Amino acid sequence: NEKIVLVKRPEGMPGSADFEFKEEPLPVPQAGEVLVRTLYISVDPYMRGRMSAAKSYAEPYPIGEVIMGGSIGQIMESADPQWKEGDIVAGLWGWQRYAAASTESLRRIDPDLAPVSTALGVLGMTGLTAYFGLLDIGKPQEGETVVVSGAAGAVGMIVGQIAKIKGARVVGIAGSDSKNDYLTKELGFDAALNYRTEKDLKAALEMACPNGVDVYFDNVGGEISDDVLSLLNPNARIPICGQIALYNLEKPDNGPRMQTALLKNTALMKGFLVGQYAKDFGKALPELAGWIQSGQLQYAENIVDGFENTIEAFLGLFSGDNLGKQLVKVSEM
Ligand code: NDP
Repeated sequence: NEKIVLVKRPEGMPGSADFEFKEEPLPVPQAGEVLVRTLYISVDPYMRGRMSAAKSYAEPYPIGEVIMGGSIGQIMESADPQWKEGDIVAGLWGWQRYAAASTESLRRIDPDLAPVSTALGVLGMTGLTAYFGLLDIGKPQEGETVVVSGAAGAVGMIVGQIAKIKGARVVGIAGSDSKNDYLTKELGFDAALNYRTEKDLKAALEMACPNGVDVYFDNVGGEISDDVLSLLNPNARIPICGQIALYNLEKPDNGPRMQTALLKNTALMKGFLVGQYAKDFGKALPELAGWIQSGQLQYAENIVDGFENTIEAFLGLFSGDNLGKQLVKVSEM
């Protein structure tokens, strides 16, 4: 078996020297476990947090251990009578070609329902993040203006489309013109701004949001968010989903203090973690699948081929290499 382990805690932007490929004998599944062969690996921004020693909502990855995270695989050998060879499963065994996984930690995937890779994206954690963050905290109403940052990423592009389904005006912020063309021409965003090339992002946002901002779905934080938060309407809602612009900073970021804007507008800013909604995943997934079937919800996947490219695929999240969900394809079904 081949796995990728963390060999040191990254300082600032992670690099390939922080990781190592390690060969080990194939694991043998014990009672209640199955041996899975990895088909797809998910690389996610939150993993950067777990590479640091700092306390957070998820434990730091131990040095020398495999990077854990979402994966899809096929059962090769089963030591649990309820699970059979050939079944496709999603689990949390992370960056390795094979794993012995406890069946309690697995979710069955029906390959006839949708491409199995979607279980890591629009029909998995990222789709659910968009769904609950937007609908439970953002609560977009018809005719309101929703701004989403990280708009061409896995979560962001689903957020914008659900907001459209709810009848809102949707403005995305992303890091390239081709991503923004995709958002406006393919996904129906009303406007999309390029934060890298816009000389005055705040002025551009004011033009794109003539009626102000009712919901700001924040994936990135930093200066982009400062600009959006200066345009809040009374009773605005701000789901804090991620702060990727800050994940690689070595020193805390001291931006403008926004509490006055929240106070004046009686606005609600609330952080959330998708895991909080676990008991309702079973209700959300059919709704997301229904929107895909009806053509109201599209998704993009950025699939890098080959386990050996996993680290580069992860690092690419911080340079914006991906349109939609970033995945690594490890083997064929
Ligand atoms: P994405 O697919 O959005 O990938 C990350 C994107 O972020 C990149 O493509 C890049 O796009 C953008 N980006 C990277 N660095 C910066 C920067 N410095 N400033 C602005 N944009 C940047 O990842 P996900 O959809 O998986 O995650 C999006 C956010 O949601 C992350 O912050 C993540 O941590 C968070 N998250 C939170 C969850 C929760 O439960 N709260 C669950 C899942 C994700 P561009 O070209 O536009 O720069």
